[in-house]
Amino acid sequence: MNTIVDAIVLGCGGGGSAALYRLARRGLRVVGIDQFAPPHDRGSSHGETRIIRAAYFEHPDYVPLAQASWSAWRELETATGATLLEATGLAEFGPPDGIVVPGVLRAARQHNLNVHSLTPDEAATRWPALAGHGLDGVYEPDAGVLRVERCVAAHLDAARAAGAETCFSTRVSGWTCGDAIAVQAGDQEFLAERLIVTAGAWAGGLLADVGVPLTPRRQVVAWHAAGAEMAVDAGCPCFLFELPTGVFYGFPDVDGRGAKVGDHAPGAVVADPSNLDRDLHDGERLALEAFVRARLPFATPTPLRHSACMYTMSPDEHFVVDRHPSDPRVVFAAGLSGHGFKFAPVLGQALADLAVDGATSLPIGFLSLARFARADGRS
Ligand SMILES: Cc1cc2nc3c(=O)[nH]c(=O)nc-3n(C[C@H](O)[C@H](O)[C@H](O)COP(=O)(O)OP(=O)(O)OC[C@H]3O[C@@H](n4cnc5c(N)ncnc54)[C@H](O)[C@@H]3O)c2cc1C
Repeated sequence: MNTIVDAIVLGCGGGGSAALYRLARRGLRVVGIDQFAPPHDRGSSHGETRIIRAAYFEHPDYVPLAQASWSAWRELETATGATLLEATGLAEFGPPDGIVVPGVLRAARQHNLNVHSLTPDEAATRWPALAGHGLDGVYEPDAGVLRVERCVAAHLDAARAAGAETCFSTRVSGWTCGDAIAVQAGDQEFLAERLIVTAGAWAGGLLADVGVPLTPRRQVVAWHAAGAEMAVDAGCPCFLFELPTGVFYGFPDVDGRGAKVGDHAPGAVVADPSNLDRDLHDGERLALEAFVRARLPFATPTPLRHSACMYTMSPDEHFVVDRHPSDPRVVFAAGLSGHGFKFAPVLGQALADLAVDGATSLPIGFLSLARFARADGRS
């Protein structure tokens, strides 16, 4: 039997749950389809915590989007009664001529953000749990921790409260574009006027004809036993270190479950996102242990537990958010490249705008497909 709706959201993780909410809030009859039952731990939106920050060293154009997202997460807390965001601040350390510290300062200058430079002595006095010696430091107080699974659940709850339907544990095998868009999901067919694709690590297969490689890569994070000095209540912020061995980041102990640490370098290419290798390999463990030993004096190097996840990399590590080149009724957000979760509310809003109005007032032009065409000299 066919189900006829205004819009379908394919994939209801970080980005899709937000898009579902935004579409439902606009009064559309909308259904969200997912192969699992979000929030789940099979994709890219799990592992308890995500950092939200605005002083974006990767590209200053993300700053207004991050600021809008912060407000939107707070609004979602009000709408649902869930606690989603904890303002812990973020301390970042690196060489003065590296990528992180100069990039943070550039974004802060350009957007007049509340960011302070720190000497190693100031950092050591303020946070004995973070060993920034030998590096320059910057501190962004208006940064914090998002409870990732709770955020997905809150968007889904709010979407359902606004009238959205969900169809979970149902895999979409494809779609065809005719008078309506026909989406094949399990043994059902859904017909819609618009389709929003937010398929995370699976986007490469579903959006192959967009022509931009979207490569899933394995990431492993680990939790380490930590002293009271690393607790949020003790004022320990989130942290990020640019080191000769890579960029390592982590979280204070937010709920007595340990300090979480990750290596930001994209890991091995994942051939099949449905069969992710979830082990912590010796090389990964040793890299995390070496980081903890060198930079987190109140944490125990041997991990308590770990979790595997995926980054979906675009060629330039910036998101790709646009209308599909072969049918503008299909819109997508893909290639979130390991830094997309914080933006879920604005991505959801942008996708809803693109799907319904064909354009958005949000400043997402730098994330459009056109940049790849330009790089090829095609337009
Ligand atoms: C270890 C790690 C740490 C990170 N840290 C941060 C951070 O600190 N801050 C930050 O902002 N970002 C961070 N990120 C990145 C961020 O988590 C991701 O960019 C974001 O969660 C991706 O959301 P998504 O909606 O694209 O994917 P997902 O949340 O994985 O959602 C995709 C959904 O699509 C569904 N789906 C796919 N194909 C189909 C199909 N054919 N049929 C039905 N359903 C389908 C999947 O089941 C899934 O539920 C991190 C990522 C990882 C892995």
